[in-house]
Amino acid sequence: MAEAPIAYTLMRIANMLEEILRRLPPPKEGPLQIEVECAHCGNFFKAGAGTGRRIDASFCCDEHRVRYHSLKRSEAGRPREI
Ligand SMILES: [Zn+2]
Repeated sequence: MAEAPIAYTLMRIANMLEEILRRLPPPKEGPLQIEVECAHCGNFFKAGAGTGRRIDASFCCDEHRVRYHSLKRSEAGRPREI
């Protein structure tokens, strides 16, 4: 019994996945918004469609994102006290 070459098997799997994805309903469009707490200032802000912030945003504004990361950097770069 000859075994199917691995490339052929992978191709069949890829085709199957493609077929499955084709049958899935299209992603729902809608007002998908969430309230997120800013990791820097702790204020709640809306993220998602129509808010100007990405759904996975962690900061209320770019300024706080930049400040948060620069604070983290300066903390990490600080020499340890002995
Ligand atoms: Zn903030």
